[in-house]
Amino acid sequence: MIRRDYLIVGAGIGGVSACEGIREHDKKGTIVLAGNETALPYHRSQLFPSQLGKRAGSAEQVQIHDAAWFAKNHIELRLDTLVTQINLERHIAVLANGQAIEFRKACMAMGSRARRPQVAGGNLGNVFYLRTLRDVQALREVVDLENEVAVIGGGCIALETAALLAQLPKVKVSILHRGAQLWARYLGPELGAWLADYYTKQGVKLMLNQSLSGFEGRTVLKNIAMKSGDRISAGLAIVALGAEPNLGLVAGTPLAYPHGTPVNEYLETDEKGIFAVGDIASYPDKIFGGVRRFEHWPCAVEQGHIAGANMSGKKRIKFDFLPHFSSTVFDLHFDFVGDFSRPATRLEVEGDHAKKKFAVRHFILGHLMGVTFCNQPAEKIEAAKAELRAWPRGKKAAVEEQK
Ligand SMILES: Cc1cc2nc3c(=O)[nH]c(=O)nc-3n(C[C@H](O)[C@H](O)[C@H](O)COP(=O)(O)OP(=O)(O)OC[C@H]3O[C@@H](n4cnc5c(N)ncnc54)[C@H](O)[C@@H]3O)c2cc1C
Repeated sequence: MIRRDYLIVGAGIGGVSACEGIREHDKKGTIVLAGNETALPYHRSQLFPSQLGKRAGSAEQVQIHDAAWFAKNHIELRLDTLVTQINLERHIAVLANGQAIEFRKACMAMGSRARRPQVAGGNLGNVFYLRTLRDVQALREVVDLENEVAVIGGGCIALETAALLAQLPKVKVSILHRGAQLWARYLGPELGAWLADYYTKQGVKLMLNQSLSGFEGRTVLKNIAMKSGDRISAGLAIVALGAEPNLGLVAGTPLAYPHGTPVNEYLETDEKGIFAVGDIASYPDKIFGGVRRFEHWPCAVEQGHIAGANMSGKKRIKFDFLPHFSSTVFDLHFDFVGDFSRPATRLEVEGDHAKKKFAVRHFILGHLMGVTFCNQPAEKIEAAKAELRAWPRGKKAAVEEQK
C-alpha cells in the first residue's frame, strides 16, 4: 500500500481544478490524480468545435495542461486508471491494477456518462453516445463514411453536434426531438419555433413531436423507429438524451443518492475529509435555494478550486455560484444565466431575433429567474448576473417587510 495526502478520483476538469486549488495553498502535500481515460485531461466542452468542425484539429489542442505542468506541480497523474473500490471510513482506495492507496483527503470528481434509453438496438454499430475525446474522434471517422446522420435529443449536445455536422460537406443531418420547438425551455415557444426554422434553413431536417421507439439493423444501424410508427433510414445515430452521474464507485454508500453526491456549502460530504465536485455534486444553492446538481463546465471549475482550497486545510471557502453556461450553434452564440429548472410564468424579449441579437428574460410570479442571451456583449451578461444575484436576498427582505 502507498500513502498520499490527497487522492483525486476522475481526471476531468473538476479533478484538475481540485489539484490547482490544493497547490495554490499546499505546495508540498502529495497528490494522486487518477482518471480512467487515456488522454491527458482535456476541455470536454471544446470537443465538438475542435474535433467536428470544418477545420478539425488535434487532441493536443484541447488539453487543459501538458504533461510537463503535472510534473512541475508534483501531481502524480495516473491515466488509464480506474479506481475500483473506496473505503470511506479507512480512507483507502483500490486501483484496477490492484494497488491500494491510503489517503488523508479525497475528492470525488467522477463526472457523468451519456444516458442510454431503454430501447431495442441501442448497442448496434454506428449508434453513438458522446462523452469522451475517443467517442468524438470515432464519430468523426464514421461521419466520413456514413453521411446520413440522425441526432436524437433537443439539448445542448444534440443541437451543437447537429449544427457542426450540418456544415460538413455531403453530410445530411436530421434531428428527432420530442418537443414542438427547439430550446423552448430557454427561448419560449415563439423563439423556439424561430430556432427550429433557423435549423431548417441551414439544411437540417427536423422531426419534432417524435419519441424514439428503437434502433433497427442486424449488427449495424439501418433505421430508426419512432413511437408514432414512423421510421427513417439512417446510417449513423447520435443519442443525446442527457447524462447521469458516475456513482458506481460509491454505490451503496451515502455518497450515491439518485440525484448525485450530497455536499455541504464547503463541498465536503458527510464523510469527513471526502469532498465531491463537478457533475456528481449535489450542492446547496445559496442563490435560488434548494439543492442543485449543475452539469456544466464553469460550475466544475469553480467547485474544483474551492474544494481543493478547503481540502488543503488553509482555507474555508463557501461555494456560492450563479448557474451559467454557454453554447454556440451555427453563428448564434447563446449565454444562459440563472435558473431554468421551472417553467417561466412570463417571458420578456428584448432585441430583434431577425438580427440574431436578443435576450429573453424569464420571470416566475414577477421575479426574474434567468436570462437567455443570443449574440450579446459580456457587459449585458455580467449585468444580468449581478441582477440575479441581488434579487433573492432582496426578495426575502421584501417578504419580511410585508409581514
Ligand atoms: C461532449 C460534451 C460537450 C460539452 N460542452 C459543454 C459546453 O459547451 N459548456 C458547458 O458548460 N458544459 C459542457 N459540457 C459539460 C461539461 O463538460 C461537464 O459539466 C464537465 O466536464 C464536468 O466535469 P467533471 O470533472 O465533473 O466530469 P468529467 O468531465 O465527466 O470528468 C470525470 C472523469 O472521471 C472519470 N472517472 C469516472 N469514474 C472513475 C473512476 N472510478 N476512476 C477513475 N476515473 C473515473 C471519467 O471517465 C472522466 O474522465 C459538455 C459535455 C460533453 C460530454
